[in-house]
Amino acid sequence: MFETIRWDGMSMLRQFLQDQSIQNQPTKIIYQYIFQNGLVSRAEIIEKTNLNRGKVARSLKELLEKNYIQVEGLGDSEGGRPPALYQVNPVTSFLIGIQITRWETKMVLYDLLLNKIDEKTIIMLPNHSPMFVIDEIKNTINKFMKSHLIQVEDILGIGIGAIGPLDSEKGTILQSEPFLPMSWGQIPVVDQIKEEFPIFVKLDNAANTIVLGESKQYPAFQNILNVTVGWTLGSGAIHNGKLLKIESGDIAGYGHIVIHMDGKPCYCGKKGCMTAYSSLYAILERIKECSPAFYLEKLKGFSPVDQISHIVAEHDQMTKEVILDSAKYIGVGVANLATIFHSEIVIVNGPLISQFPGYYEEIIQQASLHMNDQGKIQFRQGNFQRDPGTLGAAMLVLDSFLGE
Ligand SMILES: [Zn+2]
Repeated sequence: MFETIRWDGMSMLRQFLQDQSIQNQPTKIIYQYIFQNGLVSRAEIIEKTNLNRGKVARSLKELLEKNYIQVEGLGDSEGGRPPALYQVNPVTSFLIGIQITRWETKMVLYDLLLNKIDEKTIIMLPNHSPMFVIDEIKNTINKFMKSHLIQVEDILGIGIGAIGPLDSEKGTILQSEPFLPMSWGQIPVVDQIKEEFPIFVKLDNAANTIVLGESKQYPAFQNILNVTVGWTLGSGAIHNGKLLKIESGDIAGYGHIVIHMDGKPCYCGKKGCMTAYSSLYAILERIKECSPAFYLEKLKGFSPVDQISHIVAEHDQMTKEVILDSAKYIGVGVANLATIFHSEIVIVNGPLISQFPGYYEEIIQQASLHMNDQGKIQFRQGNFQRDPGTLGAAMLVLDSFLGE
C-alpha cells in the first residue's frame, strides 16, 4: 500500500467504457467479461461471449495495445502450448470511495481491482460544517492525485456513502439531524464535488454502500443482511444477489421496524422502533438516565469517537448493562429482518461490535432465540475497521460503468 504508481499511457478507460458505438461493443463486452471473471483465457472468452474468433482476437489485441488488459500468466495446457490468461490492468483508472458519517469522513483511493492505494480519515467534530468537510474531501482527492501522479481523467468516478436522509438522484444530503452541526441540511454534495472534479460522482445511502462492501467478502452468498449500529441504525440487504436499494434512507430504512408495541418514542414519529432502543444515540440517552455521573464526566460534549472510546475503556457497570440490554433489541430486529429477507448470512457492524466485550455475542444469541431456522443462518462480525463503506462506495462507480 501507499506506493507511487505511474502507468505511462493515456488513461481514457472512461471514454472507452462510455463509447456506445456499435463497433466498440464487442471489445467492451470482452473487457467486461475479463473484468468480472478475473484470469480468463481466449478460449473461455470465445465460449462465454459467443463472439467469433476473429473478433475476439482483434479486440484482445486492441485491449492489450491500449494497456487496458494484461497477460497475467498461463493456464493449464491441454496438450499444446499453455494458453495466456488475461486480466484487467488495475492501474488504467482509479476509484475514490468516500464514507460520511457522524463520527468520521473517510476517503480511500482504490485501483480498478479495489486494492487500497491511499486513505485519509477526518474525525468529525462538533464544529465541522459541511463546507469544511467538503473542502477537506476536495483537498484530499487533490493530494491523492499529486502523490500518485494521477490526473482527474484517470479517475473513473467518485462514490459517496452517507448517512441519510438523502436524495441519491439529486445527490443531496437532506437533513442535518444525524450530524453534529445543524448546518448539514440540504447539502448538494455531488454538485459541490463535481465543481472541482467534473467526473462521475454518485451519492448513496451508507446502508447500501456498507452491505455492498461487505458482500465482496462473501461471493458465495446471494442473500446477505448487514446491520450497522451507528448513530442511527443502518441496515442494507442483498437479495438474490441484488442490492435492495433504500432510496432516501434512515427513516425509510429497516432500522425503523417496530419491535416493541407502544414502546419508546422514536425520532421518526413512531413508537417502539428498533432504532429507538439500539442506536448509539439511544444508548447514550439511556446512559444519561441510568448513569448520570458517568455521562457528565465521560460523554457529554465529547466527540462521538471519544464517547465510544470512553464507553469501551471505562468498564462502568451500569453502562455495560445498558449496552448489553440494547443488544437484545438489535437481536430481535435482526431476527425479523433475516426472516423477511431469507438471509443466509447476517453481518453486524459498527464501532462497538468489535470493541465492547460480549456485545456481538449477545446480539447473536438473541437473534438466534427469535428465529425458526437459525441453524441455516451464519453470523459474522462486520469489518468496520476495513472500511466496507468506502469499498462499497467505490463499487457503486464500478457498477455504473461495468455492471450488467
Ligand atoms: Zn423510528
